[in-house]
Amino acid sequence: SISGFTPPRGTQFLRLNFRFRTMASHVVGYPRMGPKRELKFALESFWDGKSNSEDLEKVAADLRSSIWKQMADAGIKYIPSNTFSYYDQVLDTTAMLGAVPQRYGWNGGEIGFDVYFPMARGNASVPAMEMTKWFDTNYHYIVPELGPDVKFSYASHKAVSEYKEAKSLGIDTVPVLVGPVSFLLLSKAAKGVEKSFPLLSLIEKILPVYKEVIAELMAAGASWIQFDEPTLVKDLDSHQLQAFSHAYSELESSLSGLNVLIETYFADVPAEAFKTVTSLKCVTALGFDLVRGSKNLDLIKSGFPSEKYLFAGVVDGRNIWANDLASSVSTLQALENLVGKDKLVVSTSCSLLHTAVDLVNETKLDEEIKSWLAFAAQKLVEVNALAKALAGQKDEAFFSANAAARTSRKSSPRVTNGAVQKAAAALKGSDHRRATTVSARLEAQQKKLSLPALPTTTIGSFPQTLELRKVRREYKANKISEEDYVKYITEEISKVVKLQEDLDIDVLVHGEPERNDMVEYFGEQLSGFAFTANGWVQSYGSRCVKPPIIYGDVSRPKPMTVYWSSRAQSMSKRPMKGMLTGPVTILNWSFVRDDQPRFETCYQIALAIKGEVEDLEKAGINVIQIDEAALREGLPLRKSEEAFYLNWAVHSFRITNCGVQDTTQIHTHMCYSNFNDIIHSIIDMDADVITIENSRSDEKLLSVFREGVKYGAGIGPGVYDIHSPRIPSTEEIADRISKMLAVLDTNILWVNPDCGLKTRKYTEVKPALSNMVAAAKLLRDQL
Ligand code: GLN
Ligand code: ZN
Repeated sequence: SISGFTPPRGTQFLRLNFRFRTMASHVVGYPRMGPKRELKFALESFWDGKSNSEDLEKVAADLRSSIWKQMADAGIKYIPSNTFSYYDQVLDTTAMLGAVPQRYGWNGGEIGFDVYFPMARGNASVPAMEMTKWFDTNYHYIVPELGPDVKFSYASHKAVSEYKEAKSLGIDTVPVLVGPVSFLLLSKAAKGVEKSFPLLSLIEKILPVYKEVIAELMAAGASWIQFDEPTLVKDLDSHQLQAFSHAYSELESSLSGLNVLIETYFADVPAEAFKTVTSLKCVTALGFDLVRGSKNLDLIKSGFPSEKYLFAGVVDGRNIWANDLASSVSTLQALENLVGKDKLVVSTSCSLLHTAVDLVNETKLDEEIKSWLAFAAQKLVEVNALAKALAGQKDEAFFSANAAARTSRKSSPRVTNGAVQKAAAALKGSDHRRATTVSARLEAQQKKLSLPALPTTTIGSFPQTLELRKVRREYKANKISEEDYVKYITEEISKVVKLQEDLDIDVLVHGEPERNDMVEYFGEQLSGFAFTANGWVQSYGSRCVKPPIIYGDVSRPKPMTVYWSSRAQSMSKRPMKGMLTGPVTILNWSFVRDDQPRFETCYQIALAIKGEVEDLEKAGINVIQIDEAALREGLPLRKSEEAFYLNWAVHSFRITNCGVQDTTQIHTHMCYSNFNDIIHSIIDMDADVITIENSRSDEKLLSVFREGVKYGAGIGPGVYDIHSPRIPSTEEIADRISKMLAVLDTNILWVNPDCGLKTRKYTEVKPALSNMVAAAKLLRDQL
C-alpha cells in the first residue's frame, strides 16, 4: 500500500475487491542455512573462536532479511518469521520458556549464546542436551528436559524481535511458535524425575509464558500467529488430545483479536485429532499436509468448519520435485468449493527446512533433470503461481513449462528402464529367503572360515586422515592421475590390513579409504542417481547432508566394490569382509522419486546390490557385510503403517543375499540398538551375523534376549563407543563381554566396536582395538 495516502471513500470498495481476488499464499517455514550454507560457516567460525557474536548475528540477520524479501518478491502473503534458528526451533522454545537444565548454570536474564550453545552442543565441562530425530525426517531437535521443579519464565524474546526486525524491513510476518502441547509431547522427563512424570501437567506452567509472548507480539503489531502442532499427526490418546482443547481454550482470551493458525504436517491427522483441532474455538485457520497426509483431503471433505481458513499444503516440503501444478490446481479448486474462495490459502506441506535451498546454484546439474526439480526458492514461486491461478491470474507460460517438464520426466528414457521395471515387478509376492536355516549356514561357514570363539572384527571404515580426503578430492577434480590414486588407495588398504593382522583381528576389513560417504559412493556408480553441488539439508545444528537424488530406475552398470575388495583379500589369508550399503539405507538417505511407491525404488536398489553381492562371492569374498544403518529411520509415524514398511524393507534386504551359497557369510550392521520393538523384523532379515551399536545401552539390548526372544544368528553388540575419543580399557571391555555372555550363547557372540572408525584418529583406534582383542582373548581362555 502507498503509505500516507488515504483513498477517497468511493475507492475503498474497489480496493477490498481487488485484495479479495489475490488468492492468499503461505509458507510453513524456510531453510536457515542459506543457499551456500552461510550460517553453517558463520556458526562454526564463532564456535572456533575465529569470529565474534556480532559477526554471527550479522550473517544471521542478512540471511533472514534476504529470505523475507525473497518471499515478499515471490508474492507470498503470509510470510513466516521466527523460523530462523541458530540451532533448533525446539531449543529456541526451551529458551523462550526459560526451561534451562541446572547444569548450564543460567541465572536468569535473557538467554544468550553462552547458555544456548552449551545446551545445544555441550562444552568442556557439561555435555549437550539429548538430540533426537524430528518425526520421520533427517532433522534432529534438542529434547527439552522437564520435571516438576522447572521454573518457567519468559527468557528469550526471539520471536518478538524477529517479528519486529521483519517489520522494520517493511514486511509484516506471521510469527511461528512451536505449539505448547507439541512442545510438551516432544519433551522428556529430566534425570532424576520419574519416567512416568506426566509432562502434560506442565501445561499450566508454560501457558503463562506463551501468553506473555502473544501479548508482546500483538503489541508489536502482529495480526496472525502460527502454532506448529505437528504431534497432532501421531497416534495420540484421548488424554493427549484433551490437552489441545484445554491449552487452546486457556489461551483463548489472550488470542482474541489475533488470527490463529495451527499447522500440522508430515502425515494426515487421525480422525479423532481432526475433530479436536477443528473444534478449537480460538483457532482461525488450520494447516494440513496434502502431500504425505493422504487421508487429509477426505477428512476435510467430511466436514470443515465454515468459519475457518484452510491452509492447504500442496507443495512438498520434503522433496525436491517440481510440483504437478495442474493436479494441484484441481485439488485446490475442489477445496475452494468446500471451504469458500476467501477461506482457502495455498501453502507448503511442511516447513521447506527439509528440502534443498536453491536450484540456481546447481550449474553443473544436467539441464533436463534440473527442469524436473524445485528447491525451496522455486517452491515459493510455485506456491504463488498456484494462488494466482486460483484467483484467475494463471501464468500460462509458467504452467506450460511445468507441464512440459512433467511430460519429459514421464517419458524420458533416463527415467525408465524396461528391464529393471520388469525384474522389480517380478519380485513381489515372493519371499526370497536363503534355502537353509541360519544354524546350518553358520556351521557350513565355520568349516570354511575356522574362526575362534568370540571372533573379533570391525565395522568397516578406518580413520580418514586429512591427507586421504585430499587425495580423493584431487582425484575427483582430475588433479591426480588414476594410476597415482590407485597406488595411494592400495597402500592405504595394505596399511589397514597389516594393522589388523598385527592386532590379531579375525575378520578383516579394507577400511573404506575410497569412500567419502556410504550412500554417495554407491549412488555415484549406479544409474538413476543424480548429485547436486549445493543441495544441502540441515540435519542438526550446523550439520547438513546432501542426499543424492534418485530420479530413475536403478541399475548397476558394472561391479562397484569388487576391485578393492579382491585387492584387499589378496593381501591376507584371513577372511576379508566385502562392504556394501544396503538398499533400505540408500533409499532412506536419498531424495526419492515420487512417481512410484518407495518400495518399488527399494526393490530396484536391492537388485543392484544383489548383483554386487554375487560378484563379490564369485571373486572369492566369503564374508559380505551389507550395512543397513538407516533401516529404523524409515519407520512410519503411525503404528498402523509400520508392518507394511518393515515387511518390504526386510524383504529388500533379503533380496540382496538370498542367492549366495551357505558358506558365504552375510553380515549386516545397524547404528542403534534401540530395536526392542522391531526385533522380529531384524531376525526376519535372516543375516548370518549382525553387528549393532550398543555401547551406550547394554541393558536395553540384552533385555530383549533375556525376555526369551529366540536368536540363533551371530551377533556383535558394540563393545565400545566410537563416538568418543576415550580409549576403553581391556578390563572394561572384558566386563561387557561377560555381561553379554550371561545372556547370549557363546557360539553366536562376536566382538567389535560400535560403528565405523572413520571419524577417529589412529592414536585412538590402535590402543582401543588392541584392548578389544585382548579382552576377547581373555574371555576365550575362560570358556
Ligand atoms: N561400514 C560403515 C563404516 O564402517 C558403516 C557406517 C555406519 O554404520 N554409519 O563406516
Ligand atoms: Zn554404524
